[in-house]
Amino acid sequence: MEHESLVRDLPERRAVTVLPGVGPRQAERLARLGVHTLGDLWFHLPLRYQDRTRVWPLAALRPGQEVLVCGTVLSARVVPGRRRTLVVRLQDASGGVLGLRFFHFGAAQLRQFAEGVVLSAFGEVRPGIQGLEMVHPEYHLGEAQPQAGLTPVYPTTEGLGQARLRRWVGAALELAEEGCLGEWLPPSWCRDAGLPSLRDALFTVHRPPPEALEAILAGEHPAQRRLALEELLAHHLGLRRARQRHRRRRAPRVDSSETALAPLLDRLPFHLTGAQRRVLREVAADLARAEPMLRLVQGDVGSGKTVIAAAAAWWLARSGWQTALMAPTELLAEQHAANLAGWLAPLGVEVVLLNGRQRAAERRQVLEAISEGRAGVAVGTHALFQESVRFARLGLVIVDEQHRFGVHQRLALREKGVVGDRAPHQLVMTATPIPRTLAMTAYGDLDVSSIDELPPGRTPVETVVIPERRRDEVVARVRAACGAGRQAYWVCPLVDESEQLACQAAEETAVRLREELAELRVGLVHGRMKGEEKAAVMTAFKAGEIDLLVATTVIEVGVDVPNATVMIIDNAERLGLAQLHQLRGRVGRGRGRSVCVLLYHGRLSATARARLAVLRESNDGFVIAERDLALRGPGEVLGTRQTGLVGLRVADLERDAVLIPLACEWAERLLQHHPEAVEPLLRRWLSKEERYAEV
Ligand code: ADP
Ligand code: MG
Repeated sequence: MEHESLVRDLPERRAVTVLPGVGPRQAERLARLGVHTLGDLWFHLPLRYQDRTRVWPLAALRPGQEVLVCGTVLSARVVPGRRRTLVVRLQDASGGVLGLRFFHFGAAQLRQFAEGVVLSAFGEVRPGIQGLEMVHPEYHLGEAQPQAGLTPVYPTTEGLGQARLRRWVGAALELAEEGCLGEWLPPSWCRDAGLPSLRDALFTVHRPPPEALEAILAGEHPAQRRLALEELLAHHLGLRRARQRHRRRRAPRVDSSETALAPLLDRLPFHLTGAQRRVLREVAADLARAEPMLRLVQGDVGSGKTVIAAAAAWWLARSGWQTALMAPTELLAEQHAANLAGWLAPLGVEVVLLNGRQRAAERRQVLEAISEGRAGVAVGTHALFQESVRFARLGLVIVDEQHRFGVHQRLALREKGVVGDRAPHQLVMTATPIPRTLAMTAYGDLDVSSIDELPPGRTPVETVVIPERRRDEVVARVRAACGAGRQAYWVCPLVDESEQLACQAAEETAVRLREELAELRVGLVHGRMKGEEKAAVMTAFKAGEIDLLVATTVIEVGVDVPNATVMIIDNAERLGLAQLHQLRGRVGRGRGRSVCVLLYHGRLSATARARLAVLRESNDGFVIAERDLALRGPGEVLGTRQTGLVGLRVADLERDAVLIPLACEWAERLLQHHPEAVEPLLRRWLSKEERYAEV
């Protein structure tokens, strides 16, 4: 291919050994950093910077700073002990004193540090026993020599010091003539966006000029933005390409007509909402094509996503294909299995449940039903993509509450249906809406359907925020509701990230509530109970044999008991908005008026107050997600686990979120007008694995 050879001959692809001083041994070290070519060196970007532009007065030092200092030696003492240390005390005109501590030192060094000698050092300031100190700073005798600009710190490897790396990067940059750097973005686009050329951007990040200091340290310099944009663009192109490649595979083409659906719809105790019908039509259109579907169904908590999954599974099953439905918790998997069996078994589709805690004999039977193709639908947690699970004819993979899984888990499950060039359809469902721009980064051009309407007859959940000292009122509310035949949840969230403590808290709360509400039947469910125990409690709760269910956040997703109308969330201030919204979604599912009590302990910080207020004011998952995004930033809302955007080198999803729409737009324009730029950009920014990654 012509452009292949073009790419190979670019100066960017010349070996590092063309640089003076880089022999085979050095090249080998560089290779450990993934640096083989001049281009790799140009794009070996600083991890961070050191500010050696000024000499700090010792009296002004604060712990944690990394600074350049200069002073005269007051004393140099060897402190005996388990580890002999050399402590040199410096003083300067500001009157401040700083200790320099060395654990390894020679006699010659000791002699150097004679009293009155002028010494400069660079290092991190730490609190020591006798005031501030630096441990093993870089130092030299004589006055300090401040640098004109920031000093880059590069990722490095053993046996390769910063100084040498800096020299080599510098030498490589000298060879980076205008025009020999692969500038793949049209200059006019960059100019219009206020961004520098690639050459200028690289020079700036490797050798930041003094006037760029603040912007560079904040990560907001146009040079950094230019590189971040190019990187995001490359990742987006990579995702799109993987997606296109995947599209070329064949997927089961099934009869997804309305007529085919009728037997299932006839069995439902309700009519589909308009939004559900629209989403089903979108899914149906995908299934009628021979290319694999990759569709995200977003719908707020309680919007009725399960029935979409059931319909898709039914269409596949009618045509002899199996469906795997993966849920994030065993509770939810059990509930899905029960629901789907209720709808599909009468139509002749066997639904099996696979969970991590089944006995060997039972498990073998389930595995057999799956591998022999008898089971039309297999429901489970991540137990589903274990080695031992083999499907006879897997045609559809459904991932519920997709935000709880990583990209790799979804792909692992999908692999079970890949046979030759055949791949299963994929439907991913989430109640945690992802803003459109982030969805594009996360999935390339994934198709998105939204169930933007709740089933009729739902009354919005009233949400109140109450301090712990008014707990009695809350208990009274539970008593009143349960006395009137309703049911309630009392959730004890994780304390300090520890599941064990959460379970303990739930146990203690249950004991206390059993005393306070002696007339009620109080149940308990938490993550440390056995699968059957949990299932038994949930079944009892569903059947109305338990009035008040004390639980950890295991009930966060999916659990559906329409008669439950009260949700108490203890320690609500510890949870994120999305999680609180999910928990609140466990009530308000029936016709009764529901209430959600956010019980907080201690005093609320201003942010915590603002967050809980968002929940009180809105019942709309989309609004809440947007507010969450504003309060926390996309990095947290959308972890890299979900985006699959691992290994970003310059871009930061949080800081550079504003660049994402532009990156997507440019990707589109490049594909149309400069398709020759795609391959080189992918090579430049994506590792080998990422380049061949799948979606
Ligand atoms: P989610 O989108 O949160 O997964 P579910 O699928 O669990 O929601 O549905 C929530 C509840 O609403 C279930 O009890 C379900 O049976 C019921 N439901 C779903 N669709 C409708 C509808 N169109 N009309 C009435 N109830 C519905
Ligand atoms: Mg659900």
